[in-house]
Amino acid sequence: MTTTEKRDYYEVLGVQKDATKDQIKVAYRKLALQYHPDRNKAPDAEEKFKEISEAYAVLSDDAKRAQYDRFGFEGIQGRYSQEDIFRTTNFDEILRDLGFGGFGGFSGNIFDMFFGNMTGAGRGTQRGADLRYDLDLTLEQVATGLSTEIDVPRTERCQVCKGNGAKPGSVPRTCTECGGRGQVQRVSSSGFAQFVRVETCRACRGRGQVIDNPCRECKGSGVVQRKRKIQVKIPAGIEDEASLRLRGEGDAGDTGAPSGDLYVVCRILPHKFFTRQDRDLICNATISFADAALGTTIHVPTIEGYNAEVEVPSGTQSGTILKLKGKGLPSLGNSNRGNQLVTVRIEIPSKLSDRQKELLKEYRALEEESKSKKGFFKF
Ligand SMILES: [Zn+2]
Ligand SMILES: [Zn+2]
Repeated sequence: MTTTEKRDYYEVLGVQKDATKDQIKVAYRKLALQYHPDRNKAPDAEEKFKEISEAYAVLSDDAKRAQYDRFGFEGIQGRYSQEDIFRTTNFDEILRDLGFGGFGGFSGNIFDMFFGNMTGAGRGTQRGADLRYDLDLTLEQVATGLSTEIDVPRTERCQVCKGNGAKPGSVPRTCTECGGRGQVQRVSSSGFAQFVRVETCRACRGRGQVIDNPCRECKGSGVVQRKRKIQVKIPAGIEDEASLRLRGEGDAGDTGAPSGDLYVVCRILPHKFFTRQDRDLICNATISFADAALGTTIHVPTIEGYNAEVEVPSGTQSGTILKLKGKGLPSLGNSNRGNQLVTVRIEIPSKLSDRQKELLKEYRALEEESKSKKGFFKF
């Protein structure tokens, strides 16, 4: 991530790894009192409040906590959307209990408070757009997991004007049309009925502010287009088409509004030797009919790059599946590994030397002899 590195959830709440649910709740309540934006007007209070709330959402839920303990942030991000993380926790109750009613002026749930629907003066209205990035992965990379850097074209907050769109030295002024609300009411009447419609203010296009001297760098938009290198960690065992959500790594929002999210969509490339079936890896091995009849040892490639020995028992039939235990792909949610399944194909020789023909004819003669002893064909 380009923004500050995420801190460990336990560290964020200041609790031990083996803290009980009650201890976690107490820690969260204490920090929520300290950082709730209603009480704390520091510019980074909301970000802090979001951080502790996310930590609490994960650590107060048994399944999420277990996932986090095992796989860290990737485990959480690979499995839950931001909405999923927050939805299951009853923040409403805790915060009301602390005396913060209805999220102190924010309407809706805590998720909306953090990630959208933040309207009103000075807050800006438009959350940044979500972006999608398709990442091609080889099966080898799926087996090991991957940490890589991707180049993402996106809009970012303009550094020259710090995103407010005004030329340095000047400031945007509050829109007189809407009084900074970004919205205006239009009243129309039809017969006895009066209709009140709330519309986006045209003078400031909903921003609540007007810029008289636009910043040259961003032409007053507050954002610039750029290519950003972003570090992504793909957990081992990821499914085809699975997407990882990187919070706040999408397009920049209006000043005061959050950035969108970046979705990294994993696309798994076809492999020349293996096909994937969930956690299992399927491959073929061709052996001669003599080897099939007599039994042999063969070497087959594994996803880890070395050749594994496989025993082919005597009398193996074409289509038999031999299992290499634990040589498949890791699974996302637990430490079980799939198997490698080797389908045996038996090759009938198309060219034979005179000596081979001679031996096969002798073999056939022996077979016919034993058949005639047993009588006719058996079905
Ligand atoms: Zn600018
Ligand atoms: Zn306005």
